Amino acid sequence: MKKEGKSVIRYFGRVTKDLYTIMPAEVTGIILLELLEAAAALWQVAAAARFFDTAGSWLEGNAGREELLQWAGLFVLATGLPMLCGLIEGAVRNLPMFQKHHELIVRLHNRVVSVPLIRLEEPEFHNEVWRAKLCVYNYGLINYFFGFVDFLPLIFRFAGTVWVIAAFHIYFVPLALLSILPSVLVRFRYQREQYSMRRAQTAMERRKDYLWEVLTGRSLVKELRTLETSRYIREKWAQARDSVMEETFRFEMKNANRILLGDLFKFFGVAASIGLSIVFTHRGLMSLGQFAACIAAFGSLQSMAESLMNQMAWQKGRADFAGDYYDFFDNEAEGEEGEKYPGLQDTIEARDVFFHYPGSEKDALSDVSFTIRKGQRVVIVGENGSGKTTLSKVIAGIYQPEQGRVLYDGKDVGRYAKDSFYRKFSVIQQNFVKYQFTVRENIGISQPSQIHNDERLMESAKAADIERIVRRAGGLDVRLGREFDGVELSGGEWQKLAIARGLNRDAEVVLLDEPTSALDPLVEYDILRKFLDMTEGKTSVIISHRIGLGRFADKIIVMKEGKVAQTGTHDELLAMGGEYSRMWHEQARWYE
Ligand code: ADP
Repeated sequence: MKKEGKSVIRYFGRVTKDLYTIMPAEVTGIILLELLEAAAALWQVAAAARFFDTAGSWLEGNAGREELLQWAGLFVLATGLPMLCGLIEGAVRNLPMFQKHHELIVRLHNRVVSVPLIRLEEPEFHNEVWRAKLCVYNYGLINYFFGFVDFLPLIFRFAGTVWVIAAFHIYFVPLALLSILPSVLVRFRYQREQYSMRRAQTAMERRKDYLWEVLTGRSLVKELRTLETSRYIREKWAQARDSVMEETFRFEMKNANRILLGDLFKFFGVAASIGLSIVFTHRGLMSLGQFAACIAAFGSLQSMAESLMNQMAWQKGRADFAGDYYDFFDNEAEGEEGEKYPGLQDTIEARDVFFHYPGSEKDALSDVSFTIRKGQRVVIVGENGSGKTTLSKVIAGIYQPEQGRVLYDGKDVGRYAKDSFYRKFSVIQQNFVKYQFTVRENIGISQPSQIHNDERLMESAKAADIERIVRRAGGLDVRLGREFDGVELSGGEWQKLAIARGLNRDAEVVLLDEPTSALDPLVEYDILRKFLDMTEGKTSVIISHRIGLGRFADKIIVMKEGKVAQTGTHDELLAMGGEYSRMWHEQARWYE
């Protein structure tokens, strides 16, 4: 669990550096403009002081009209300059900065795809991603950076106003500060509580989004309609939405009351300052002109101090949200670190491997050992839940074993940089993606450098038995899927397309995890058999609960309850009796 409260300046250096790398000219420009605005603010205060002074004297008949007009002109100019700076700065902020902001989203995405995949199994990981996404989509980092640069002119203005009012009497300064204190404290508290509330709402917000997806996703809508369950899901969604909204509403109401009380205090401050000025005027310490100027200056000090304090309170809130982004970045990542993978020479070996999923008590793999030789065609069989998929992920280095080792040519798979390691791998997963792109992209995306090599793509299509389908659909450049008005394929055709994609990749190890389960047993058997032929010369591992494939494999690994029950060839295992032989006799009628 990450620490909730973050100090306001904790991420300042990091945010500035990150924004500077993305948009150096804009960041430098903004800082310069803010400095200019700060200098102008100081000048504005000095001009204002002289103007008030002269106005007072003029009211008493001690200053001339021309002098008054001269100071009034300078005062207007001094007020106009910061406004002009603000205008230019606003244009820089709104246009280029927000346009380049997508870079931060790209960075976040790169990070998401480089976390160890096992983390996807943890709900808290998805909460972290959600919060980081929220921060960056809501311009959290840019606003945090602006929060700091905005301080500069504010501080100068505040200092200047203190100086002006202190010239009347020093008592006014503590009076103004005290009068805004409750309102400022309320705002600090608001920021802190709002962040905690949002943080606690993450899981519910994600749930709400998920339910919305279920309600409106195209494939799911079909099921909902036939099952008439949409009302049920809609109510669940409405409950999730209401619970977030009600909590937020209650929170805002509670705070509105507090803010009102705080503002009342400010009002007392103004009343007290008027009283004090009357006393001073009465005692002859202040002239009538000064009385008017003093009351105006008091109001301005109050609002200046309040802006400064509020800015601090907001900044605290922004620091919390910026922290969500960086906390996520501080997570472990994998990618280029590690040795370059030289390619398989001889063997892949699992040695005494144990593995269990986060949040699960049971070992998904327990004491698993076997060896696969280069070029072998291996079939892993076993009943549902026996650990086949988990094993394939451990072999591929996607999940790290808890105990034991996975060795490529005798070296731990963990030592290799993931990027270079996966380049030699082609993994076709159970839950493959149906890209709503063209046929070309659906097959070619696994080897983008060859995406325009029609011959190669058709070769892969042929190997996966979809050459005819591609021709029927109208060629490689036909868009697939209904999402964007393309040609829709059947479930089985999509699966074959995923296999074509896997085959298209230049890999030395091909791993196929039953992406054929929706096909009828004979078609599946036929495709997988062909798959074994197609991977001739490569090391291939197929995971299947269809046992018939074993006849064509060089080696069969039989999994049962997370353990390796048997290994051998089809004939050896039949002769041996036991789990494989039992399953074979159960399923044999399909293949005969
Ligand atoms: P198979 O591929 O043979 O069907 P799996 O490798 O998917 O089996 O699952 C092996 C065991 O691990 C099962 O008991 C399953 O319930 C459990 N398991 C699989 N995935 C997860 C997960 N993400 N979190 C917790 N347990 C899991």
